[in-house]
Amino acid sequence: MASISKALIVGGGIAGLSCAVSLSRAGVHCDVVEVGNSWGGASIGITGRAADALGELGIHEECLAASTPFPRDSTVASQFDATGQLVSPGPPRPDWPGSKLGMGVYRSALLKSLADAAKRQGASIRIGVTAKSIEEQASASLVHFSDDTSGSYDLVIGADGINSSVRAMAFPDAPKPSYAGQFSMRWMVEGSPIDAEGWYSSPAGRLGFYNLPKGVTYVAAVFNIPQFRWLEKAEVLALFGGLLDSFTAPAIQELRRRLKPDSDVIARPFEWLLVPDTWVRGRTLLIGDAAHATTAHLGMGGGMALEDSVVLGQCIANAPTLDEALAQFMFRRYSRVRTVVETSLALSQLEQRGAPRSEAVTLMKTALTAISEAY
Ligand SMILES: Cc1cc2nc3c(=O)[nH]c(=O)nc-3n(C[C@H](O)[C@H](O)[C@H](O)COP(=O)(O)OP(=O)(O)OC[C@H]3O[C@@H](n4cnc5c(N)ncnc54)[C@H](O)[C@@H]3O)c2cc1C
Repeated sequence: MASISKALIVGGGIAGLSCAVSLSRAGVHCDVVEVGNSWGGASIGITGRAADALGELGIHEECLAASTPFPRDSTVASQFDATGQLVSPGPPRPDWPGSKLGMGVYRSALLKSLADAAKRQGASIRIGVTAKSIEEQASASLVHFSDDTSGSYDLVIGADGINSSVRAMAFPDAPKPSYAGQFSMRWMVEGSPIDAEGWYSSPAGRLGFYNLPKGVTYVAAVFNIPQFRWLEKAEVLALFGGLLDSFTAPAIQELRRRLKPDSDVIARPFEWLLVPDTWVRGRTLLIGDAAHATTAHLGMGGGMALEDSVVLGQCIANAPTLDEALAQFMFRRYSRVRTVVETSLALSQLEQRGAPRSEAVTLMKTALTAISEAY
């Protein structure tokens, strides 16, 4: 029997919705509040044990059907030079018996699958609502919401992303997110699929792409911008076009032909954060980016959020008390997540220093081997 009966989850992203599935399956009634009103976003790669976590949440097959499966030989992470010559095949991903296939999936499809699964399990999801205050009382937390309602909960979970307001309320001394010195640019390109998926490097920078279902190619690029500043749309397009221009590889030239003045290239700074020591304060817990946000160099931030949820469900289901459940959760999560955050940041710094790619590959292999262990 679960060690608690009612939980509030603030944030309906990957962490919050997967947590609602996992805790509901453990017998906990979950209320989710999500301040936004749309589940959009580009694409996300789900690999390694995170794909297994989707299996444990019961939605791996459904997500796979709406995704591009990643072949086990990692061809989708192959490295090419500016002319399109293969430099090295993708670093092989560690494998284990019964492992689930990784995938590139539309974020909207992943979030819809998670929300549907949470509702099937009896969770309530309120859109356009947030928690205004959290008051710890003797046997529960009293929460007041932005729609003038309130509720009493055994556990409040902050799954509200890198700028978490739950973290601000319950962990006022926690570090703030730090800028990593790079921007990510993402572009969803329509048209027929483009051959030779993988990552391409030129002296001007690095970009990668893979094809998604429904005739969309997902393109991601990384730019060094040492001092943080917001980028205007015109500058984003100029930087992105300039990077595409630095390649003679046929695949990238095809992307260049498809880039138009009104193309929707999204630029976002890479920021990171690791709340030190514990993500627990009394009856409040942080998960996902609210507790640990990372640059995308390992493509594992969302995966860590999925794992957090699965592990939390297991701990709540099996521990006799909430305190013991949360202590077990921290024991199982902290160092694994720290490996991802610290390695991703180190990879970003290597890239900014212009270090040989082989250094990055070595670091990646070590981290991927560590996190291929069961969570
Ligand atoms: C460029 C880029 C590429 C990435 N690629 C990958 C990848 O390929 N694979 C991977 O695994 N990870 C990837 N990541 C990381 C991944 O996107 C994040 O780790 C993941 O989205 C974290 O999920 P989350 O639910 O914790 O936070 P979020 O996705 O930020 O979701 C938080 C949710 O909470 C809501 N919210 C915020 N404040 C409040 C509030 N006060 N009240 C209620 N609701 C609130 C938000 O609207 C949002 O819906 C990438 C990140 C970046 C920046």
